[in-house]
Amino acid sequence: MVVIDGVSDRGSVTPLSSARKPNLDKLAKMGINGIMDTIKPGVRPGSDTSHLALLGYDPFKFYTGRGPIEAAGVGIELKEGDVAFRVNFGTVEGEGSVFDKVVIDRRAGRISDTDELVKAVNEIDLSNFNVEFVFKRGSGHRGALVLRGNLSDEVGDVDPKEMGKKVKRCVPLVEDDKARRTAEIVNYFIQKSHEILDNHPLNLERSKSGLPKANVLLLRGAGKVPHLPRFEDRFGMRLAVISGTALIKGVVRVLGGDVIEVEGATGGKDTNLNAKVEGALKALESYDFVLLHIKATDEYGHDGDFEGKREFIEKVDKALEPLLSLDFSEVCLILTADHSTPVNVGDHTADPVPVTIVYRDVRVDDVDEFSELKAYKGGLHRITGNDLFNIVLDLINKAKKFGA
Ligand code: ZN
Ligand code: ZN
Repeated sequence: MVVIDGVSDRGSVTPLSSARKPNLDKLAKMGINGIMDTIKPGVRPGSDTSHLALLGYDPFKFYTGRGPIEAAGVGIELKEGDVAFRVNFGTVEGEGSVFDKVVIDRRAGRISDTDELVKAVNEIDLSNFNVEFVFKRGSGHRGALVLRGNLSDEVGDVDPKEMGKKVKRCVPLVEDDKARRTAEIVNYFIQKSHEILDNHPLNLERSKSGLPKANVLLLRGAGKVPHLPRFEDRFGMRLAVISGTALIKGVVRVLGGDVIEVEGATGGKDTNLNAKVEGALKALESYDFVLLHIKATDEYGHDGDFEGKREFIEKVDKALEPLLSLDFSEVCLILTADHSTPVNVGDHTADPVPVTIVYRDVRVDDVDEFSELKAYKGGLHRITGNDLFNIVLDLINKAKKFGA
């Protein structure tokens, strides 16, 4: 399964429809096509909920928040009673406590190396609260925080999610001591980490060279450890993922699948696409279900960059050429996206995504282009992400019969 994150768009001329993409088009021509509402019509998917759906897990039933998935993605082993948060390194300015300051950049200038900062924050001591924590970096400005010690996930975000707003004080979302205590610890942690980060040599240096300081941890998406039935137990297939994105690695990890690390898979615009494709083909030798996730299309969508998105799609097309020589009597190839990220919206929307399945004996249709504008003419018509998974299970003869 190849997921080109946020590849589809809005309108009648899109980056995908206007890209030169002979390989993607060939695959569409060889297969059966359709459009897909990854979650359901009109629901704007997150990348986590949509990937759960694509992997056969109903997100309305199984989703427990982004924090734990992000934490699993950066390699934190979660335990019962843990509360996990997503973290962005951000930039604040102003006087007073961190909660009096204004967020001027939610990504700290897309800082790329946070190792030293993460190390410094890990010096914080929460033993007074009887709490331990694990704080790890993800790619770029991202990271994950896990608080350990009988805490509640019913607390609000610290991230105001908009520039020009003050850092939010973490508040309990329910009236109980656990949630109150958790919020108190979070606020202590945010203030403490701000003091450390604001004065950190690396940030003083950034300031000097005109770069925004990475001086605040913007927490959001509190969640508890998810208890999900393992993919392999449910479907009898060994699952692996190749992705540079912690969130997607996390989804696969919480399903008990393996993460295959590929040199140069950054989850960004500079990722090594060829190495990822090579890694995915190699993984097919030892896994039954391999998810190849490509992220940067989504980033171009968020940045509102039509041309950048179109050009990146063309790069993806080139990199995917080796897929044309797969033996489709053996391998079932699914080509799709997790949601649309239209450049004129700059965020995920519910506009359906294109989907192509290439496999022996699929009913090949007349669609001759991998495009969100053409795929509706195909034999799959309009399906959901869970439908797709079930259709594929059926095609590969792993579906169970309903009734006698
Ligand atoms: Zn996505
Ligand atoms: Zn996105």
